[in-house]
Amino acid sequence: MKLPIYLDNHATTPVDPAVFEAMAPYFLEKFGNASSTNHSFGREAERAVEHSRRIIAEAIGAEPDEIYFTGGATESINLAILGTAQSYYGKGRHIVSVVTEHSAVIDSLKLLEQKGFEITLLPVDKSGSVDVELVEKSLKDETILVSVMTANNETGSINKVEAIGNICGEKGILFHTDATQAIGKIPFNVSTVPASLASLTGHKIYGPKGVGVLFIRKTSPRIKLVPQTHGGGHENGVRSGTLNVPGIVGLGKAVQLSAELFDEETARIKSLRDRLYSGLQSEVSGIEINGSMDNRLPNNLNVRFKNVRAENIITEIRDIAVSTGAACSSASPKPSRILKALGLSDEQAYSSVRFGVGRFNTEEEIDYAVEKFSKTVKMLRESSPLAELSTK
Ligand code: PLP
Repeated sequence: MKLPIYLDNHATTPVDPAVFEAMAPYFLEKFGNASSTNHSFGREAERAVEHSRRIIAEAIGAEPDEIYFTGGATESINLAILGTAQSYYGKGRHIVSVVTEHSAVIDSLKLLEQKGFEITLLPVDKSGSVDVELVEKSLKDETILVSVMTANNETGSINKVEAIGNICGEKGILFHTDATQAIGKIPFNVSTVPASLASLTGHKIYGPKGVGVLFIRKTSPRIKLVPQTHGGGHENGVRSGTLNVPGIVGLGKAVQLSAELFDEETARIKSLRDRLYSGLQSEVSGIEINGSMDNRLPNNLNVRFKNVRAENIITEIRDIAVSTGAACSSASPKPSRILKALGLSDEQAYSSVRFGVGRFNTEEEIDYAVEKFSKTVKMLRESSPLAELSTK
């Protein structure tokens, strides 16, 4: 077994060697600009981009011309939310979302609030999911967009996006879902989830960082977004900027692999995650699950260790990579806003650890993690039973 062990697959995933292999030629000999279609270099790059577009479209039940390449999920989300607001503000200025959304959603909404939009951020239940009826009740005549993530990046909680999308559809309201953490972990298909817009990214599915997709539905209704980047009119004028050909090739390959491996991989990862949880439960006392065990991604475990600070556990355990919260907020000393939204106290949030199991983890690694965490938690509790949770 090789150390350190990586169990932070919600933050990012390693690039699959097959993905890297597919990308490599597009850095070196096949370096053409996909827009330079007047020569063979450009046409070769364009063919590769269109091949990826078809793979991704097929994997999520979309048409190729509904797939728009971006620089990652943050950009896709910004484009979806700000682009919708700028395009449809004449119809209304009310947007509904949920407190546990990624900061790319929350911060885009804050910006719109400053510009006069009314933003409703709905709470979640103890399992971390938003109640469908609550979404329905929050809708008004002026509501132009609902944005609800398919699955959460900290708790793995899954939302009923199919039902939410149907309600929005019936009322003629656009529905965006951030499917970043869901792709490759639970089925996600826009033929069943009636999303108008969906965001995804490469680096959570063993693809490269800095490349993503915004799915934009083209019929019933055809959605028109105001672009957020201006320039050469790439991606049908929606997202200007020279296409990241190696990244797009890698994203296509990553999506293809995820689809091919889906059944075997989700079952295997779930069994590793369950092994981790039951191992910890049998070795340490005072361990509790954040959210529900049923309604969560198969790769996610978010637990709290009573009377111990997660930060201290992580500092002690140098050879296992886990997290106390979302990667983008891990520099913040505040308790996780996501865990707080589930009703946890500050102390409970501070004692929580997020494990993200991935494609390359093994049983041996899981058993090592169980042993290491159990020993460390016991040691910390014994060394400073009361001091552990004193506020900093
Ligand atoms: N949405 C969710 C749920 C995420 O987990 C992430 C990644 O941290 C993002 C959006 C942002 O994705 P990207 O890193 O591709 O901008």
